[in-house]
Amino acid sequence: MCPTPDTQYPMPRRVKCLALFSGGLDSILAVKVVQEQGIEVLGLTFTTPFFGAKKAEEAAETIGLPLLKLDITEEHFAMVKDPRYGYGRNMNPCIDCHTMMIRKAGELLDHYGADFIITGEVLGQRPMSQNKQSLHIVAKNSGFNGRVVRPLSARLLPETAPESEGLIDREKLLDLRGRGRKRQMEMAARYGITSYTSPAGGCLLTDLMFSRRLRELLNHNPDPHPREIELLKTGRHFRIENGVKVIVGKNRRDNAMIADLARDEDVLLKVTEYPGPCALIPHGCAEECLLMAAGICAHYSDAPKDAEVEVRFRKGKETGILRATAAPRSLIDEMMI
Ligand code: SF4
Repeated sequence: MCPTPDTQYPMPRRVKCLALFSGGLDSILAVKVVQEQGIEVLGLTFTTPFFGAKKAEEAAETIGLPLLKLDITEEHFAMVKDPRYGYGRNMNPCIDCHTMMIRKAGELLDHYGADFIITGEVLGQRPMSQNKQSLHIVAKNSGFNGRVVRPLSARLLPETAPESEGLIDREKLLDLRGRGRKRQMEMAARYGITSYTSPAGGCLLTDLMFSRRLRELLNHNPDPHPREIELLKTGRHFRIENGVKVIVGKNRRDNAMIADLARDEDVLLKVTEYPGPCALIPHGCAEECLLMAAGICAHYSDAPKDAEVEVRFRKGKETGILRATAAPRSLIDEMMI
């Protein structure tokens, strides 16, 4: 009996890779360059309180890329607090963060039947995290050295196993280097990609103000609840006496978010007779601090700055009224984080 075609001439298995996919232009181009070689690409994106998957989801949909989403909050936050390779300009521990992402992708290779990992990193694009040494450290420390291909700069980097094994054609990979975006723009035009965001856009750890708040929070509480991280994203923040935190909404959206994040143990404050923001004291506070917080709340209301005004407070089911004068500008500046 003749063997079935399948057993006599087995179909070659299609090469497959996992792409670290942020949705930024470089990650899109890396996917495109690899797809052009007939390689199947599965996108992988991560979520933490510092960055979400929205940008990646939108970009993946635009280019028709199947996308996996992985929440790495716990492990990522532990790393953010004490990164082995330190921080970039703000609280962004990019070398450790990339390492973790590549390791996570590596751990999924077998499960998804993928042969290697690709990233959109470009040699020299970021001085600290994307120089030759950092790229090497990231791949090595991830535990998947040799399975990481950077299609946009591969020809400037040592040959990787997928290249030497013939899974991917090195000659068709690129030699992008540096911070210039000209070649990326040309490629985007060629692929018909019209909407994309800047590299690193969307990561709060690269934001100066957020980083300042996060650092201050960690100094007071090395193990904050995820809600406290969420609160860092909204309003104006103050540290008053006894380590008490006060958060004052800047606009309606902030006020709504603060009210939404408030818990029974917190105190919410609001000036009653004049329009103004709401203020939150996470975990409440002693009476003298309450008065100071009411003064801050009054400062940002439309109340006259030199008169006592009524401020309503609420803690769980308990409510009350106190009278406070708007805190002076000098005190506001001193306490603002
Ligand atoms: S910019 Fe943010 S998400 Fe990107 S590698 Fe750095 S820390 Fe991680």
